[in-house]
Amino acid sequence: MAEIKMIGVVGGGQMGSGIALLAAANGIHVWLHDTDPNALSRAQKYVSTFVQSLVSKGHLSQAAGSDALIRLQCTSNLEDLQSADVIIEAIVEAEDVKKKLFSELDKIAKGSAILASNTSSISISRLASVTNRPQQVIGMHFMNPPPIMKLIEIVRGADTSDETFSSTKALAERFGKTVICSRDYPGFIVNRILMPMINEAFYALYTGVATKEDIDTGMRLGTNHPMGPLTLADFIGLDVCLSIMKILHAGLGDSRYAPCPLLVQYVDAGRLGRKRGIGVYDYR
Ligand code: NAD
Repeated sequence: MAEIKMIGVVGGGQMGSGIALLAAANGIHVWLHDTDPNALSRAQKYVSTFVQSLVSKGHLSQAAGSDALIRLQCTSNLEDLQSADVIIEAIVEAEDVKKKLFSELDKIAKGSAILASNTSSISISRLASVTNRPQQVIGMHFMNPPPIMKLIEIVRGADTSDETFSSTKALAERFGKTVICSRDYPGFIVNRILMPMINEAFYALYTGVATKEDIDTGMRLGTNHPMGPLTLADFIGLDVCLSIMKILHAGLGDSRYAPCPLLVQYVDAGRLGRKRGIGVYDYR
């Protein structure tokens, strides 16, 4: 594929805003789309605050910071993404919603464009199946927060071409990331291992094994994790964790992946983690 000059990002939440920032800071023009105008204003604020902090710490010159901000444009009109070379989807973790979007993107995007999904767990082959370009559909799973975390997990669907894989890998490396490659199974590599651990931490809390603080301190100091699993769940978003557990449970067909009732209850109560000010912990 020719050099990637423009990227479309769909979904301006935690992940989409970070991906847009990463692309803009690496010299690529970005159209960021979200259906919610408030999400777009939050994304713009997040990006300008992040760029300002890089400038004030001396990691980026004032001119490079201003250029990065100019390269990012927000839109509530999906059609503005029509000239993008790559479109990265980072909307809600729900297969039916993502499929509807992929079918729309297939009609809007130029014929050569790659359609990538930042999904944490949903089958890339199934998302590709609603398009007429399954060979150009791929998983590009960034870690949270995208500008800081060093890894991108690339997931090839059943029909993803070698060319799509090489272009996506080259893009991830242009972002300065290390790439790992997963086959298209529920949760891929990282969430296949991480989410059952987080779910087990919820079970430990639910069954009264210990307090939330002791569960987190145990895993932080006992296994050298930078963050305890319950703190990490709040950081990821409890709704995202629950969606992933449901996909692991349905896709792997084993009761050991059943979401913990306490996780379900928190999500039902709107305790979605840091982004809502309350999850396992209260941040208000
Ligand atoms: P989020 O809730 O912060 O943001 C999702 C955004 O998508 C919202 O702003 C919402 O308005 C927008 N949206 C929903 N439907 C849309 C549509 N049809 N068109 C346009 N915009 C739409 O969620 P997030 O944490 O950024 O997660 C997004 C994706 O990234 C999910 O697939 C998730 O599994 C994946 N992911 C999340 C993390 C994490 O730690 N949170 C890490 C890696 C990958």
